[in-house]
Amino acid sequence: MENKQNIAEILCVGTELLLGDIVNTNAAFLSRELAALGFAVYHHSVVGDNPARLRDALELSLSRSDLVVMSGGLGPTKDDLTKETVASYFGLELEMREDCLEEIRSYFARTGRVMSENNAKQAMIPRGARVLTNRYGTAPAIAISEQGKTVIMLPGPPVELIPIFREEVIPYLRERGGETIFSRNVNIFGMGESAVAQKLDRLLCESQNPTVAPYCKEGEVRLRVTARAENETVAAEMCDRVVEQILQSEVGQFVYGIDADSMEHVLVDKLHEHRLTLSAAESCTGGLIAKRITDIAGCSDVFFGGCVTYTNEVKQKLVGVSAQTLAAHGAVSSETAIEMARGVRARTGSDIGISATGIAGPGGGTDETPVGTVYLGISTKDGEGYRKLSLSSRRSREFIRIVAATNAYDMVIKYITLGKI
Ligand code: ATP
Ligand code: MG
Repeated sequence: MENKQNIAEILCVGTELLLGDIVNTNAAFLSRELAALGFAVYHHSVVGDNPARLRDALELSLSRSDLVVMSGGLGPTKDDLTKETVASYFGLELEMREDCLEEIRSYFARTGRVMSENNAKQAMIPRGARVLTNRYGTAPAIAISEQGKTVIMLPGPPVELIPIFREEVIPYLRERGGETIFSRNVNIFGMGESAVAQKLDRLLCESQNPTVAPYCKEGEVRLRVTARAENETVAAEMCDRVVEQILQSEVGQFVYGIDADSMEHVLVDKLHEHRLTLSAAESCTGGLIAKRITDIAGCSDVFFGGCVTYTNEVKQKLVGVSAQTLAAHGAVSSETAIEMARGVRARTGSDIGISATGIAGPGGGTDETPVGTVYLGISTKDGEGYRKLSLSSRRSREFIRIVAATNAYDMVIKYITLGKI
């Protein structure tokens, strides 16, 4: 489908960024959001608080992109000159907008702060521009559309830029495009990003509408499929056709959800659906398995609880791991993992028990059991089993724990849906 405004770029303003004093997180955020909206982002630029160089940068950006999203330099001080420079570039005069002045006044009243003289400057808006309300600060965001090009100016602080983008910019872009943008997320676990990219090479490289973009999250891959069409029904159908293609590919068997919030959400849903209950005995994950489940409201029907059994002694006392098993196989072993799962299931009376025991590092590894080795146990009425993870020892403690917990959820989901132990 022909799209009038498909090429976008990001232009951030701030000498602090050039000096390396702050990291350009706004550019990363904006890039992700624009890609999700179906824009091709070909350039990022950063320019200091200097009107001549800002004007040059803007001219270059507009020569090659349909949409330029700017961040920073909208504040009330003298070095904030984004608005003035953009207005002068388009030959637009700045005029006082009473509604903006009122917004700014009410922001100061709400936050109990005193409004200074120069805050009024923030209510000066280029003639004909669209104001995108800022409920999180004083500088209104501004959109200018001229000669088929759009420039959007956003305040620099991420606490303002992020919500304004979501609440104001996305609807504005949708309205302007005269199209609906619709996305579906395909949640993948058990296959790495490069393997996914390789298997779906053509889909990822050639797709334009819908676009397919991969995102990584500890041990998981997410594919965001985004379509633009005249209405949501058509866009959703376009997305669903691509999702179907992904499900039919070699990647399909690793898809654990479509538009799922997380693996633990899928787990809690499955437990509810099958009226099953769960408990956990945790060593290296230190309670993370339980924590992530209990982050979900309504999990108490299906999650009984668990315990953190860190030392050998507590593994024996709380979940009944035998001294013999510990002596013969060690705490980080499939035997210990299974006994932990069995013990917590028996003591809580849940249908399923899961466990994790491993070496999260950075110290404590040996040649036989290096950092990143984790055994996950499962105990059910249909039998018991374990999964061994050999994660890279270069990974952080946090990463190893997160991936261990996610694998534990995956084991339970596979047991419930496929009967696999
Ligand atoms: P203010 O009204 O706060 O002056 P502003 O729109 O003028 O807002 P800047 O003065 O350029 O924005 O930046 C204000 C603060 O916002 C910076 O000190 C920094 O903390 C943050 N910030 C600015 N640009 C970025 C960026 N690209 N990425 C992350 N943070 C940023
Ligand atoms: Mg500023």
